[in-house]
Amino acid sequence: MRGIIDANDTDALEEVAAKYSIAIPQNIAEMLSVDAIARQFIPSKDELITHERELSDPIGDDAHSPLKGLVHRYKNRVLIKLVEVCGVYCRFCFRRENVGDNKGQALKTDELEQIYEYLRNHKEVEEVILTGGDPLVVSTRRLKEVAENIAKISHIRFFRIHTRTVIANPEVINDELIAALKASQKSVKMVIHTNHATEIDDAVKQALNKLISNQIQLFSQSVLLRGVNDKPEVLADLFNTLLLNNINPYYLHHPDLAKGTGHFYLNLEDGAKIYNETAKLISGLALPKYVIDIPGGFGKIPVNSGQVVKTDGGFILIDNNGRRHNYPIL
Ligand code: SF4
Repeated sequence: MRGIIDANDTDALEEVAAKYSIAIPQNIAEMLSVDAIARQFIPSKDELITHERELSDPIGDDAHSPLKGLVHRYKNRVLIKLVEVCGVYCRFCFRRENVGDNKGQALKTDELEQIYEYLRNHKEVEEVILTGGDPLVVSTRRLKEVAENIAKISHIRFFRIHTRTVIANPEVINDELIAALKASQKSVKMVIHTNHATEIDDAVKQALNKLISNQIQLFSQSVLLRGVNDKPEVLADLFNTLLLNNINPYYLHHPDLAKGTGHFYLNLEDGAKIYNETAKLISGLALPKYVIDIPGGFGKIPVNSGQVVKTDGGFILIDNNGRRHNYPIL
């Protein structure tokens, strides 16, 4: 990364690289002249700074994991973490302690068999969500195999894929991949992770068109990040761009308390102000929900609601079961 990083930072960045994986594919490399893109993907020595409030498992996946690779946090849906690697590594990643090259292995056939058995026995589960890492880095053959197994479980209605691959490696979206997903014979949805309008370039638009013309409904998930998209005009541009490209803006996440990501954090009050100002600039159709995952695995709640209460020392977050959780002022 000569020319992109400061030569004085080399030692610190080697330390960062030893802890957290780095990958910048071609399509992202071509966008790096835009600061908001560079900040998301180029490692920083700030990643070595950690705070007591930061957690290895900030959204509490482990507390809801009955089997390796399976998270069952909400009654009607499960996550399958198919693989622990990604095509690009976001410097603010909320699963960075477990996601990365050499951090974990893709689920093996016998581990997936156990998950299918669990799903057969849990008739309340209507939706299977593939996540990771990035599920679209696994082979098409493997994805098809998973989809075919999901097809055999009649009470599952929706098959959802969470991915950043459409942005990072749009050329991966081809007919074979789409056929693999459709082998699930379920309603296929894709949630694309994207944080800045620059990410929706021509190659990405082509991939989106391919998905849409194959009746795969698209949604977005973004993270509010200091120095990337923490301005109402920038968020408005992102959400309008998504809507114009037939992606339904779904969630804007408050950043999670992942280790070494403090340089991306915003105060909840500042986040709420930015969101409210953004709402004034765009159609309601383009406005996603602004949510925070309560640390420890207590689920998501809307930030602009009575479930976030300011106190003298920080905030109280009230989960959907009425339990109260302290949240620090950043
Ligand atoms: S694509 Fe998702 S899982 Fe992978 S590094 Fe980025 S935020 Fe983390």
